[in-house]
Amino acid sequence: MSAEYEPLTIDTLSQRLGKLSTLKARLGDDPALWTVQEVGDGNLNLVFIVQGPKGGAVVKQALPYVRLVGDSWPLPLKRAFFEYHALTRQAIRAPGDVPEIYHFDEIQALIIMEFLTPHVILRHSLKAGKRHEGLGETMGLFCARTLFRGSDMSMETAKRKSDLALFADNVALCDITENLVFDDPYFDAKMNRHTTPQLDGLVAQLRADVDLKVAAQHLKAAFCNNAETMLHGDLHTGSIMVNADETKVIDPEFAIYGPIGFDVGMLIGNFLMAYFAQPGHAQAPGSRDAYGDWILETTIKIWATFETEFSALWRKERTGILYSARLFEDQGHTLAAEQALADRLNDIWAHTLGFAGIEMHRRILGLAHIMEFDTIEDEHLRASCEAKALRLGRMLAVNRHVLRDMNEVCSLAKLMEQENAT
Ligand code: ADP
Ligand code: MG
Repeated sequence: MSAEYEPLTIDTLSQRLGKLSTLKARLGDDPALWTVQEVGDGNLNLVFIVQGPKGGAVVKQALPYVRLVGDSWPLPLKRAFFEYHALTRQAIRAPGDVPEIYHFDEIQALIIMEFLTPHVILRHSLKAGKRHEGLGETMGLFCARTLFRGSDMSMETAKRKSDLALFADNVALCDITENLVFDDPYFDAKMNRHTTPQLDGLVAQLRADVDLKVAAQHLKAAFCNNAETMLHGDLHTGSIMVNADETKVIDPEFAIYGPIGFDVGMLIGNFLMAYFAQPGHAQAPGSRDAYGDWILETTIKIWATFETEFSALWRKERTGILYSARLFEDQGHTLAAEQALADRLNDIWAHTLGFAGIEMHRRILGLAHIMEFDTIEDEHLRASCEAKALRLGRMLAVNRHVLRDMNEVCSLAKLMEQENAT
Protein backbone atom coordinates (compact mmCIF):
# COMPACT_ATOMS: atom_id res chain seq x y z
CA MET A 1 0.00 0.00 0.00
CA SER A 2 1.22 3.49 -0.75
CA ALA A 3 2.04 5.89 2.05
CA GLU A 4 -0.67 8.30 0.98
CA TYR A 5 -4.38 7.79 1.47
CA GLU A 6 -6.24 6.78 -1.65
CA PRO A 7 -9.75 5.36 -1.86
CA LEU A 8 -9.94 1.78 -3.10
CA THR A 9 -12.05 0.85 -6.11
CA ILE A 10 -13.41 -2.49 -7.29
CA ASP A 11 -10.67 -2.52 -9.94
CA THR A 12 -7.71 -1.57 -7.73
CA LEU A 13 -8.50 -3.48 -4.55
CA SER A 14 -7.03 -6.92 -5.41
CA GLN A 15 -3.83 -5.39 -6.70
CA ARG A 16 -3.45 -2.94 -3.81
CA LEU A 17 -4.24 -5.43 -1.03
CA GLY A 18 -2.89 -8.51 -2.86
CA LYS A 19 0.34 -8.66 -0.86
CA LEU A 20 -1.28 -8.80 2.57
CA SER A 21 -0.55 -12.20 4.05
CA THR A 22 -3.62 -12.07 6.34
CA LEU A 23 -5.84 -11.63 3.33
CA LYS A 24 -4.06 -14.24 1.20
CA ALA A 25 -4.37 -16.75 4.03
CA ARG A 26 -8.15 -16.30 4.07
CA LEU A 27 -8.90 -15.80 0.38
CA GLY A 28 -6.22 -17.78 -1.43
CA ASP A 29 -2.72 -16.83 -2.58
CA ASP A 30 -3.48 -15.50 -6.06
CA PRO A 31 -5.17 -12.06 -5.96
CA ALA A 32 -6.01 -12.45 -9.67
CA LEU A 33 -8.63 -14.99 -8.58
CA TRP A 34 -10.30 -12.65 -6.09
CA THR A 35 -13.64 -11.05 -6.90
CA VAL A 36 -14.65 -7.70 -5.42
CA GLN A 37 -18.09 -6.21 -4.82
CA GLU A 38 -18.92 -2.83 -3.31
CA VAL A 39 -21.84 -3.19 -0.92
CA GLY A 40 -21.77 -0.03 1.17
CA ASP A 41 -25.41 0.73 1.77
CA GLY A 42 -24.45 2.84 4.74
CA ASN A 43 -24.25 6.57 4.90
CA LEU A 44 -20.57 7.20 5.35
CA ASN A 45 -18.00 4.69 4.06
CA LEU A 46 -16.87 2.31 1.32
CA VAL A 47 -17.53 -1.36 2.08
CA PHE A 48 -16.21 -4.12 -0.19
CA ILE A 49 -16.76 -7.86 -0.07
CA VAL A 50 -13.69 -9.68 -1.39
CA GLN A 51 -13.95 -13.37 -2.16
CA GLY A 52 -11.36 -15.89 -3.29
CA PRO A 53 -11.11 -19.66 -3.70
CA LYS A 54 -10.61 -20.17 0.07
CA GLY A 55 -13.05 -17.69 1.56
CA GLY A 56 -14.04 -14.05 1.94
CA ALA A 57 -13.41 -10.87 3.89
CA VAL A 58 -14.91 -7.41 4.23
CA VAL A 59 -12.82 -4.32 3.55
CA LYS A 60 -14.23 -1.11 5.00
CA GLN A 61 -12.56 2.18 4.11
CA ALA A 62 -13.46 5.66 5.31
CA LEU A 63 -13.87 8.45 2.76
CA PRO A 64 -12.79 12.01 3.55
CA TYR A 65 -16.43 13.11 3.33
CA VAL A 66 -19.96 11.93 4.16
CA ARG A 67 -20.89 9.48 1.44
CA LEU A 68 -24.62 10.23 1.67
CA VAL A 69 -24.10 13.94 1.06
CA GLY A 70 -20.86 14.14 -0.98
CA ASP A 71 -17.61 16.08 -0.71
CA SER A 72 -19.42 19.25 0.38
CA TRP A 73 -19.50 17.65 3.86
CA PRO A 74 -15.93 16.71 4.85
CA LEU A 75 -15.44 14.13 7.60
CA PRO A 76 -12.09 13.02 9.06
CA LEU A 77 -10.63 9.69 7.95
CA LYS A 78 -9.67 9.11 11.58
CA ARG A 79 -13.14 7.61 12.18
CA ALA A 80 -11.69 4.29 10.96
CA PHE A 81 -9.18 4.50 13.83
CA PHE A 82 -11.98 4.92 16.37
CA GLU A 83 -13.99 2.11 14.80
CA TYR A 84 -10.96 -0.20 14.96
CA HIS A 85 -10.24 0.66 18.59
CA ALA A 86 -13.90 0.24 19.55
CA LEU A 87 -14.15 -3.13 17.77
CA THR A 88 -11.05 -4.52 19.48
CA ARG A 89 -12.37 -3.46 22.89
CA GLN A 90 -15.88 -4.82 22.23
CA ALA A 91 -14.35 -8.15 21.12
CA ILE A 92 -12.78 -8.51 24.58
CA ARG A 93 -15.74 -7.18 26.54
CA ALA A 94 -18.45 -9.09 24.66
CA PRO A 95 -16.69 -12.09 23.08
CA GLY A 96 -18.26 -13.35 19.85
CA ASP A 97 -20.58 -10.36 19.35
CA VAL A 98 -18.54 -8.35 16.82
CA PRO A 99 -16.81 -9.36 13.56
CA GLU A 100 -13.24 -10.58 13.90
CA ILE A 101 -10.64 -8.02 12.79
CA TYR A 102 -7.96 -9.25 10.39
CA HIS A 103 -6.05 -6.03 9.62
CA PHE A 104 -6.07 -2.27 10.22
CA ASP A 105 -4.29 0.37 8.12
CA GLU A 106 -4.46 3.80 9.70
CA ILE A 107 -3.15 5.79 6.72
CA GLN A 108 -5.58 4.15 4.30
CA ALA A 109 -8.32 4.41 6.98
CA LEU A 110 -9.28 0.81 6.33
CA ILE A 111 -10.33 -2.17 8.38
CA ILE A 112 -10.32 -5.72 7.05
CA MET A 113 -12.72 -7.95 8.95
CA GLU A 114 -14.73 -11.13 9.00
CA PHE A 115 -17.30 -11.42 6.20
CA LEU A 116 -20.58 -12.06 7.99
CA THR A 117 -22.54 -14.38 5.75
CA PRO A 118 -25.35 -15.28 5.23
CA HIS A 119 -26.19 -12.51 7.70
CA VAL A 120 -28.47 -9.63 6.80
CA ILE A 121 -28.94 -6.23 8.36
CA LEU A 122 -31.56 -6.56 11.12
CA ARG A 123 -33.56 -3.61 9.79
CA HIS A 124 -34.36 -5.65 6.65
CA SER A 125 -35.69 -8.52 8.77
CA LEU A 126 -37.81 -6.15 10.86
CA LYS A 127 -39.35 -4.82 7.67
CA ALA A 128 -39.85 -8.30 6.16
CA GLY A 129 -41.42 -9.73 9.33
CA LYS A 130 -38.66 -12.25 10.13
CA ARG A 131 -37.96 -13.45 13.67
CA HIS A 132 -34.50 -14.19 15.04
CA GLU A 133 -33.98 -16.61 17.87
CA GLY A 134 -32.11 -15.14 20.83
CA LEU A 135 -31.96 -11.60 19.42
CA GLY A 136 -33.20 -9.79 22.53
CA GLU A 137 -30.95 -11.80 24.78
CA THR A 138 -27.80 -11.27 22.69
CA MET A 139 -28.41 -7.54 22.46
CA GLY A 140 -29.12 -7.22 26.20
CA LEU A 141 -25.91 -9.12 26.96
CA PHE A 142 -23.90 -7.07 24.45
CA CYS A 143 -25.08 -3.81 26.00
CA ALA A 144 -24.49 -4.90 29.61
CA ARG A 145 -21.05 -6.37 28.91
CA THR A 146 -19.62 -3.62 26.72
CA LEU A 147 -21.11 -0.81 28.81
CA PHE A 148 -20.21 -2.23 32.23
CA ARG A 149 -16.72 -3.39 31.26
CA GLY A 150 -15.87 -0.07 29.57
CA SER A 151 -16.83 1.91 32.68
CA ASP A 152 -15.24 3.07 35.93
CA MET A 153 -17.02 0.19 37.66
CA SER A 154 -14.72 -2.22 35.87
CA MET A 155 -11.64 -0.45 34.53
CA GLU A 156 -8.53 0.55 36.42
CA THR A 157 -7.78 4.23 36.51
CA ALA A 158 -4.85 4.57 34.06
CA LYS A 159 -6.47 2.51 31.29
CA ARG A 160 -9.81 4.23 31.84
CA LYS A 161 -8.24 7.68 31.50
CA SER A 162 -6.18 6.81 28.43
CA ASP A 163 -9.27 5.37 26.72
CA LEU A 164 -11.31 8.41 27.66
CA ALA A 165 -8.61 10.59 26.04
CA LEU A 166 -8.38 8.35 22.97
CA PHE A 167 -12.09 8.43 22.21
CA ALA A 168 -12.51 12.10 23.21
CA ASP A 169 -10.76 12.90 19.93
CA ASN A 170 -13.71 11.45 17.93
CA VAL A 171 -14.95 15.02 17.74
CA ALA A 172 -16.44 15.16 14.26
CA LEU A 173 -18.73 12.18 14.71
CA CYS A 174 -19.69 13.25 18.21
CA ASP A 175 -20.58 16.66 16.80
CA ILE A 176 -22.92 14.96 14.31
CA THR A 177 -24.73 13.22 17.17
CA GLU A 178 -24.91 16.40 19.25
CA ASN A 179 -26.55 18.32 16.42
CA LEU A 180 -28.52 15.76 14.45
CA VAL A 181 -29.93 13.81 17.38
CA PHE A 182 -30.57 16.41 20.04
CA ASP A 183 -31.08 19.77 18.31
CA ASP A 184 -32.22 19.50 14.70
CA PRO A 185 -35.53 17.68 15.27
CA TYR A 186 -36.72 20.53 17.50
CA PHE A 187 -36.40 23.41 15.04
CA ASP A 188 -36.56 23.79 11.26
CA ALA A 189 -32.90 22.86 10.71
CA LYS A 190 -31.69 22.94 7.10
CA MET A 191 -31.19 19.22 6.53
CA ASN A 192 -34.44 18.11 8.20
CA ARG A 193 -37.22 16.38 6.31
CA HIS A 194 -40.52 14.80 7.30
CA THR A 195 -43.58 13.34 5.62
CA THR A 196 -45.36 16.45 4.49
CA PRO A 197 -48.01 17.80 4.61
CA GLN A 198 -49.52 14.97 6.69
CA LEU A 199 -47.20 15.44 9.69
CA ASP A 200 -46.93 19.25 9.52
CA GLY A 201 -49.42 19.85 12.33
CA LEU A 202 -47.85 17.38 14.74
CA VAL A 203 -44.34 18.58 13.90
CA ALA A 204 -45.34 22.18 14.67
CA GLN A 205 -46.89 21.00 17.94
CA LEU A 206 -43.70 19.13 18.94
CA ARG A 207 -41.49 22.10 18.08
CA ALA A 208 -43.70 24.37 20.19
CA ASP A 209 -43.54 21.94 23.10
CA VAL A 210 -41.10 23.54 25.53
CA ASP A 211 -41.24 20.64 28.02
CA LEU A 212 -40.01 18.38 25.24
CA LYS A 213 -37.30 20.82 24.20
CA VAL A 214 -36.05 21.06 27.78
CA ALA A 215 -36.11 17.25 28.11
CA ALA A 216 -34.10 16.90 24.89
CA GLN A 217 -31.51 19.38 26.16
CA HIS A 218 -31.28 17.65 29.56
CA LEU A 219 -30.59 14.45 27.65
CA LYS A 220 -28.04 16.22 25.47
CA ALA A 221 -26.36 17.48 28.66
CA ALA A 222 -26.27 13.88 29.90
CA PHE A 223 -24.72 12.77 26.59
CA CYS A 224 -22.08 15.51 26.66
CA ASN A 225 -21.27 15.50 30.38
CA ASN A 226 -21.56 11.92 31.57
CA ALA A 227 -18.51 10.08 30.27
CA GLU A 228 -19.55 6.86 31.98
CA THR A 229 -18.43 4.26 29.47
CA MET A 230 -17.27 3.59 25.92
CA LEU A 231 -20.41 3.69 23.83
CA HIS A 232 -20.95 2.03 20.48
CA GLY A 233 -22.44 5.42 19.66
CA ASP A 234 -24.69 4.34 16.75
CA LEU A 235 -26.42 1.22 18.06
CA HIS A 236 -29.47 1.07 15.82
CA THR A 237 -30.93 -1.91 13.97
CA GLY A 238 -28.84 -1.03 10.88
CA SER A 239 -25.71 -1.71 12.96
CA ILE A 240 -26.79 -5.28 13.74
CA MET A 241 -26.34 -8.24 11.39
CA VAL A 242 -28.32 -11.45 11.92
CA ASN A 243 -28.73 -14.91 10.46
CA ALA A 244 -30.96 -17.75 11.61
CA ASP A 245 -29.19 -18.18 14.93
CA GLU A 246 -26.49 -15.54 15.30
CA THR A 247 -26.42 -11.81 16.06
CA LYS A 248 -23.40 -9.55 15.45
CA VAL A 249 -22.88 -5.84 16.07
CA ILE A 250 -20.98 -3.80 13.45
CA ASP A 251 -20.01 -0.19 12.75
CA PRO A 252 -18.94 1.48 16.03
CA GLU A 253 -17.29 4.48 14.31
CA PHE A 254 -19.28 6.88 16.55
CA ALA A 255 -17.62 5.40 19.66
CA ILE A 256 -17.17 7.95 22.44
CA TYR A 257 -17.35 7.98 26.22
CA GLY A 258 -20.92 8.79 27.24
CA PRO A 259 -23.86 7.69 29.41
CA ILE A 260 -24.65 3.97 29.63
CA GLY A 261 -28.30 4.57 28.69
CA PHE A 262 -27.40 6.06 25.30
CA ASP A 263 -26.71 2.79 23.46
CA VAL A 264 -29.55 0.93 25.16
CA GLY A 265 -31.97 3.79 24.50
CA MET A 266 -31.07 4.21 20.84
CA LEU A 267 -31.50 0.47 20.34
CA ILE A 268 -34.89 0.37 22.07
CA GLY A 269 -36.08 3.45 20.16
CA ASN A 270 -35.33 1.61 16.92
CA PHE A 271 -37.27 -1.50 17.98
CA LEU A 272 -40.26 0.65 18.95
CA MET A 273 -40.15 2.39 15.55
CA ALA A 274 -39.97 -1.00 13.81
CA TYR A 275 -43.11 -1.92 15.79
CA PHE A 276 -45.01 1.14 14.61
CA ALA A 277 -43.92 0.53 11.00
CA GLN A 278 -45.60 -2.91 10.86
CA PRO A 279 -49.04 -1.78 9.59
CA GLY A 280 -47.18 -0.16 6.69
CA HIS A 281 -45.88 -3.56 5.60
CA ALA A 282 -48.90 -5.75 6.39
CA GLN A 283 -50.31 -7.66 3.39
CA ALA A 284 -53.77 -7.57 5.01
CA PRO A 285 -55.05 -5.59 8.00
CA GLY A 286 -53.79 -7.23 11.17
CA SER A 287 -51.48 -9.68 9.38
CA ARG A 288 -48.46 -8.25 11.20
CA ASP A 289 -50.05 -8.14 14.67
CA ALA A 290 -48.29 -11.27 15.94
CA TYR A 291 -44.99 -10.06 14.54
CA GLY A 292 -45.50 -6.68 16.21
CA ASP A 293 -45.99 -8.54 19.50
CA TRP A 294 -42.70 -10.36 18.90
CA ILE A 295 -40.92 -7.03 18.43
CA LEU A 296 -42.32 -5.78 21.74
CA GLU A 297 -41.38 -9.04 23.49
CA THR A 298 -37.87 -8.65 22.10
CA THR A 299 -37.74 -5.07 23.39
CA ILE A 300 -38.75 -6.28 26.86
CA LYS A 301 -36.15 -9.06 26.63
CA ILE A 302 -33.35 -6.61 25.74
CA TRP A 303 -33.97 -4.52 28.84
CA ALA A 304 -34.57 -7.52 31.14
CA THR A 305 -31.35 -9.20 29.97
CA PHE A 306 -29.43 -5.95 30.24
CA GLU A 307 -30.62 -5.45 33.82
CA THR A 308 -29.86 -9.03 34.87
CA GLU A 309 -26.41 -9.14 33.28
CA PHE A 310 -25.47 -5.65 34.49
CA SER A 311 -26.45 -6.72 38.03
CA ALA A 312 -24.42 -9.94 37.72
CA LEU A 313 -21.36 -8.00 36.53
CA TRP A 314 -21.84 -5.51 39.36
CA ARG A 315 -21.73 -8.38 41.86
CA LYS A 316 -18.87 -10.33 40.23
CA GLU A 317 -16.72 -7.83 38.37
CA ARG A 318 -16.93 -4.55 40.29
CA THR A 319 -13.15 -4.23 40.40
CA GLY A 320 -12.74 -0.70 39.03
CA ILE A 321 -12.59 2.79 40.45
CA LEU A 322 -16.19 3.12 41.63
CA TYR A 323 -18.19 1.50 44.47
CA SER A 324 -15.17 -0.43 45.66
CA ALA A 325 -15.87 -3.71 47.45
CA ARG A 326 -13.59 -2.54 50.28
CA LEU A 327 -16.31 0.00 51.15
CA PHE A 328 -19.23 -2.39 50.75
CA GLU A 329 -18.88 -6.18 50.85
CA ASP A 330 -15.66 -6.04 52.91
CA GLN A 331 -17.50 -3.99 55.55
CA GLY A 332 -20.46 -6.34 55.63
CA HIS A 333 -22.49 -3.80 53.63
CA THR A 334 -23.65 -6.14 50.89
CA LEU A 335 -27.19 -4.77 51.04
CA ALA A 336 -25.87 -1.24 50.58
CA ALA A 337 -24.06 -2.42 47.45
CA GLU A 338 -27.42 -3.71 46.20
CA GLN A 339 -29.00 -0.34 47.00
CA ALA A 340 -26.26 1.42 45.04
CA LEU A 341 -26.85 -0.95 42.13
CA ALA A 342 -30.59 -0.20 42.19
CA ASP A 343 -29.82 3.54 42.17
CA ARG A 344 -27.46 3.17 39.21
CA LEU A 345 -30.04 1.09 37.29
CA ASN A 346 -32.71 3.73 38.00
CA ASP A 347 -30.52 6.43 36.48
CA ILE A 348 -29.69 4.25 33.47
CA TRP A 349 -33.40 3.43 33.02
CA ALA A 350 -34.44 7.09 32.87
CA HIS A 351 -31.65 7.87 30.41
CA THR A 352 -32.58 4.85 28.31
CA LEU A 353 -36.18 5.98 27.97
CA GLY A 354 -35.17 9.55 27.22
CA PHE A 355 -32.66 8.61 24.53
CA ALA A 356 -35.16 6.17 23.00
CA GLY A 357 -37.72 8.96 22.69
CA ILE A 358 -35.26 11.43 21.16
CA GLU A 359 -34.02 8.78 18.70
CA MET A 360 -37.62 8.23 17.56
CA HIS A 361 -37.95 11.92 16.86
CA ARG A 362 -34.73 12.46 15.00
CA ARG A 363 -35.34 9.47 12.70
CA ILE A 364 -38.70 10.92 11.59
CA LEU A 365 -37.91 14.64 11.65
CA GLY A 366 -34.18 14.90 11.01
CA LEU A 367 -31.73 14.02 8.23
CA ALA A 368 -31.24 10.26 8.71
CA HIS A 369 -34.48 8.32 8.45
CA ILE A 370 -35.14 4.60 8.87
CA MET A 371 -35.87 2.27 6.00
CA GLU A 372 -38.92 0.68 7.69
CA PHE A 373 -40.81 4.00 7.50
CA ASP A 374 -39.27 5.34 4.28
CA THR A 375 -40.36 2.30 2.27
CA ILE A 376 -44.07 2.74 3.15
CA GLU A 377 -45.18 4.22 -0.15
CA ASP A 378 -48.68 5.33 0.84
CA GLU A 379 -47.90 8.68 2.45
CA HIS A 380 -51.03 8.72 4.61
CA LEU A 381 -50.25 5.30 6.00
CA ARG A 382 -46.58 6.24 6.53
CA ALA A 383 -47.55 9.45 8.31
CA SER A 384 -49.96 7.58 10.58
CA CYS A 385 -47.21 5.07 11.56
CA GLU A 386 -44.70 7.87 12.10
CA ALA A 387 -47.15 9.96 14.13
CA LYS A 388 -47.59 7.15 16.65
CA ALA A 389 -43.82 6.86 17.06
CA LEU A 390 -43.52 10.64 17.48
CA ARG A 391 -46.19 10.65 20.17
CA LEU A 392 -44.67 7.77 22.10
CA GLY A 393 -41.23 9.38 21.71
CA ARG A 394 -42.55 12.53 23.36
CA MET A 395 -44.02 10.50 26.23
CA LEU A 396 -40.77 8.63 26.83
CA ALA A 397 -38.55 11.71 26.75
CA VAL A 398 -40.75 13.87 28.99
CA ASN A 399 -41.93 11.12 31.37
CA ARG A 400 -38.66 9.23 31.64
CA HIS A 401 -38.66 9.56 35.43
CA VAL A 402 -42.29 8.44 35.75
CA LEU A 403 -42.56 5.29 33.64
CA ARG A 404 -41.62 2.25 35.68
CA ASP A 405 -40.72 -0.65 33.46
CA MET A 406 -40.49 -1.91 29.91
CA ASN A 407 -43.80 -3.81 30.15
CA GLU A 408 -45.49 -0.49 30.81
CA VAL A 409 -43.67 1.15 27.88
CA CYS A 410 -44.70 -1.65 25.54
CA SER A 411 -48.31 -1.52 26.79
CA LEU A 412 -48.31 2.18 25.98
CA ALA A 413 -46.95 1.43 22.50
CA LYS A 414 -49.76 -1.09 21.98
CA LEU A 415 -52.42 1.31 23.22
CA MET A 416 -51.05 4.00 20.93
CA GLU A 417 -51.19 1.58 18.03
CA GLN A 418 -54.79 0.53 18.75
CA GLU A 419 -56.14 4.00 19.47
CA ASN A 420 -54.79 5.47 16.29
CA ALA A 421 -55.63 2.45 14.19
CA THR A 422 -59.33 3.24 14.54
P1 ADP B 1 -21.29 2.76 7.24
O1 ADP B 1 -20.41 3.07 8.41
O2 ADP B 1 -20.91 3.46 6.02
O3 ADP B 1 -22.73 2.93 7.62
P2 ADP B 1 -21.45 -0.12 7.73
O4 ADP B 1 -20.36 -0.56 8.62
O5 ADP B 1 -22.80 0.07 8.34
O6 ADP B 1 -21.03 1.21 6.94
O7 ADP B 1 -21.54 -1.14 6.51
C1 ADP B 1 -22.37 -0.89 5.40
C2 ADP B 1 -22.98 -2.20 4.92
O8 ADP B 1 -21.97 -3.12 4.54
C3 ADP B 1 -23.77 -2.91 5.99
O9 ADP B 1 -25.10 -2.43 6.01
C4 ADP B 1 -23.69 -4.35 5.57
O10 ADP B 1 -24.66 -4.62 4.57
C5 ADP B 1 -22.32 -4.43 4.93
N1 ADP B 1 -21.31 -4.92 5.89
C6 ADP B 1 -20.57 -4.18 6.74
N2 ADP B 1 -19.75 -4.94 7.48
C7 ADP B 1 -19.97 -6.23 7.11
C8 ADP B 1 -19.43 -7.49 7.49
N3 ADP B 1 -18.47 -7.60 8.42
N4 ADP B 1 -19.90 -8.61 6.86
C9 ADP B 1 -20.86 -8.52 5.91
N5 ADP B 1 -21.40 -7.35 5.51
C10 ADP B 1 -20.97 -6.21 6.09
MG1 MG C 1 -21.36 3.88 10.04
